[in-house]
Amino acid sequence: MSGKHGEWVYETVEEMGARFGIRATEKLLDEQTPYQHLEVWRTERWGNLMLLDGVMMLSSLENYLYHEMMAHPALQTHPAPRNVVIIGGGDCGTLTEVLKHREVESVVQIDIDEAVTRAAERFFPELTAHNDDPRVSLRFEDGVAWMKNAPSASVDVIIVDSTDPIGPGTGLFGPDFLADCHRVLREDGIMVGQSESPFYHLPLMLDYHRAMKAAGFAERRSLLFPQPVYPGGSITGTLARKAGPLDELRPLADEVVTRYYSTALHRGLLATPPFMQEALGEV
Ligand code: SAM
Repeated sequence: MSGKHGEWVYETVEEMGARFGIRATEKLLDEQTPYQHLEVWRTERWGNLMLLDGVMMLSSLENYLYHEMMAHPALQTHPAPRNVVIIGGGDCGTLTEVLKHREVESVVQIDIDEAVTRAAERFFPELTAHNDDPRVSLRFEDGVAWMKNAPSASVDVIIVDSTDPIGPGTGLFGPDFLADCHRVLREDGIMVGQSESPFYHLPLMLDYHRAMKAAGFAERRSLLFPQPVYPGGSITGTLARKAGPLDELRPLADEVVTRYYSTALHRGLLATPPFMQEALGEV
């Protein structure tokens, strides 16, 4: 839920009794799409800011943190990622990061809401500049249904860059969808999904691990990283590999230029903090 007081744009997390605000200067877009309420604001210090259903999705200033972490850890863990599927990700920031990898031959992105991509083209053009890369195929349909119908053992890397598990994003956290992801990945395939904050949404994170385990992903690892516009200022991306370890990674190629991700950082983030380890021990 967001409330506006003057020029402040707020995201409120009722269950945590918390509210985060960013001062805006102008509302650039206010659209009720068939799926969600889409807003874009011009802000004083954060560049443009996109919200879906009152939840902050990305700002120009710091979206690289999230997008790099949704793309590179999974791609660097896979021995030879050629075919990538992104579920959600309509702002195309994760797609931009995936395309930096020359070994990737095809990327299919499935977002339910075309309006998000059209808004990104207008207000975050730096994220959509490579959408005409011949390796890219953009589809606008439900990711849950797409995955259900996808052929088995046909994809190397699945990236679930979804909204929170409310509204259209709900199914992307569920056991049926994750079981389909497991089936669609090749034998050495890997997936990563945004799995919220361990400070704000620990039960959700634990449910996500349980569902991944039930789907057949023996090993999972939640990498905790900063994301200032998300509740609590940080978020996790949970990696799960069909077979093989999660702590063997290829060093980043020189042509993949990043601002947050590095091989050394990736190794460090694989060390789950004790408070998360303790909670995950129950899974
Ligand atoms: N992790 C970012 C966040 O929570 O702030 C998400 C950014 S990205 C904009 C999330 C995208 O997921 C949205 O564009 C939304 O349309 C898409 N999405 C939600 N449910 C979906 C579904 N069932 N299938 C495909 N895309 C979906």
